[in-house]
Amino acid sequence: MSDVKSLPKFCVVIPCYNEQESIPVLVEKLTPQLEKVTNGSWQILFVDDGSSDATAQMIWDLHRKDARYQCIRLSRNFGHQPAVWTGIQNAKAECIGVIDCDLQDPPDVLVELYQKVSQEGFDVCAGVRGKREDSPLWLRFAYKLFYRIMSWTAEHDYTLDSGDFCVFNQRVHAALCRLSEATPVHRGLRSWVGFKQSTFTYQRPPRLYGQSKYNLTRLVILATNNLVNFSTAPLRLATLVGLLMGVTTLFSAGLFLFNRLFPSFSLLGYHIGANPGIATLVLYLSFISSALFFCLGIIGEYLAVVIKEVKKRPVAVIAEMSE
Ligand code: UDP
Ligand code: MG
Repeated sequence: MSDVKSLPKFCVVIPCYNEQESIPVLVEKLTPQLEKVTNGSWQILFVDDGSSDATAQMIWDLHRKDARYQCIRLSRNFGHQPAVWTGIQNAKAECIGVIDCDLQDPPDVLVELYQKVSQEGFDVCAGVRGKREDSPLWLRFAYKLFYRIMSWTAEHDYTLDSGDFCVFNQRVHAALCRLSEATPVHRGLRSWVGFKQSTFTYQRPPRLYGQSKYNLTRLVILATNNLVNFSTAPLRLATLVGLLMGVTTLFSAGLFLFNRLFPSFSLLGYHIGANPGIATLVLYLSFISSALFFCLGIIGEYLAVVIKEVKKRPVAVIAEMSE
C-alpha cells in the first residue's frame, strides 16, 4: 500500500454524466469547503461517464488550472454505479468521499461526514436522506420501501435511506479495493465491509439543473442488483412459494377426493362436485404457472450476476486519466 503520509488528506469522487451546468456551481461551493477543512490537502476526482456535452472539456480545463482536480474519462456511458466504483478504485487519499455532481448532496454536509471520519474515529460516515424534496410521493414511498426490504433481507446491516453520498477512511478503502465484483453496488459494499459505521441525516434538495438520469428501468435494475448482491432471501422465497403451492395442491386433492366419496359434502355452501369447475381449474393453473415463472425469474436474476462474475469483465473501461 502507498505511504499514507504522502497522500492528500481527502479525495472526493464525483461521477458526472452530462453535468455541464452543475460542475461550475459545485466546484465553486465545494472547493473552499475542502480548502478550509484539509488545509489545502485535497483532491477532486471527476469521473466523466461518457458525457456528450461539455462535461469532459470542463473537468480537463479545471485539471490544467489546478492539478488537484483529477479526471477520469470512461470510454462510454457505463452508468452511475460503475462510474462511482471506478473513481473509488483509483482514488488515493487518507479519506475518500463520494458526492453527486448535481448538488443534491450538499457540500457542507460532506464536510460534516468528513469530520466524523477524520476526527471522531468512525471508519465510515454515510449521508442518510431524511426529508427529501427531489421526487414525487410515489417514488419516495418506493425508495423507503426498497431500503426497508433491503435492511430486512440483507445478510449484513444495510444502512437505511442512504445512497452513495459518504466518506470513509483508508481501512475501508483498502477493503473495498480488494473486492473484485462484476456488478459492484457501492452503497451496499460500503456497509458490508463493516468497521465502525456512522450516519448523518440531511435533507435532500431537488436537482439544481436538468433531470435525474435514473428512469424507472434504471431504478428497477439498481434495486434488483442490490437485492441479488446482498441477499439470497428471494431464492429462499422461491422455495417457499413452491412449498406453499405443493401444500395447496395436496389440500385441494384431498378435498376433491373427499367430495368423490361424499357427494353431498359442501364447503361454505360450495359443492365442489356439483360445479363443472372450469373457472377454478383455469385460475388454479394460471396461478401455478405465474408462481413458476416468478420463481424462474428470481433464479434468472441471480444467474445474470453469476454470468457477469464468470466473464470477469472490468466494471468500466478508462479511456483517459490525469496523472
Ligand atoms: N451519473 C453517472 N452516470 C450515469 C447516470 C448518472 O455518472 O449513467 C451521475 C450523475 O451525473 C450524478 C450522479 O451520477 O452526478 C447521480 O445521478 P442522478 O442525479 O441522475 O441520480 P439521482 O440523484 O436521481 O438518484
Ligand atoms: Mg441527483
